[in-house]
Amino acid sequence: MSDEASTGGCQCGAVRYRIDITLENAHVCHCRMCQKASGNYFLPLARAPKAKFAVTRGEVSWFRSSDLVRRGFCRDCGTPLLFDVLDRNTVNVVLGALDEPAAVKPTFQCGLRTKMPWFDEIDSSEPSTDESEWYAAIAPSIHQHPDHDTATWPLEDRS
Ligand SMILES: [Zn+2]
Ligand SMILES: [Zn+2]
Repeated sequence: MSDEASTGGCQCGAVRYRIDITLENAHVCHCRMCQKASGNYFLPLARAPKAKFAVTRGEVSWFRSSDLVRRGFCRDCGTPLLFDVLDRNTVNVVLGALDEPAAVKPTFQCGLRTKMPWFDEIDSSEPSTDESEWYAAIAPSIHQHPDHDTATWPLEDRS
């Protein structure tokens, strides 16, 4: 398989990055640290060599969640971006922040001890009512960076 580059970044667009290799070891982690760091039930991650990862805009901020690990995020909007085991030459990218998150498919789970006991049930739960009205209401004022690199951001002319 040839190497596939991918790009991504935080919700507000202050931090953008590029990975010049196919991401490996894609998984979701249900551990309590990942839950807290993402405000979510799990964190989807995949790794790349640090030499193949580059920040292309802004600066990643860091929280040292243990002596061994630091977690990267955007200071402006709070998006979790990276899981970095300090003495390794690879870095883990938070997959939901990729521009094409569906392109990387997790193949295993970890941290199962603290997985939400009802998690497997929500996928078969009742769908919510029609959301199109809500999406139409927020569309004119969305401040989320688009899912591709931009020359300037924020866009000067939003019209
Ligand atoms: Zn941001
Ligand atoms: Zn974890």
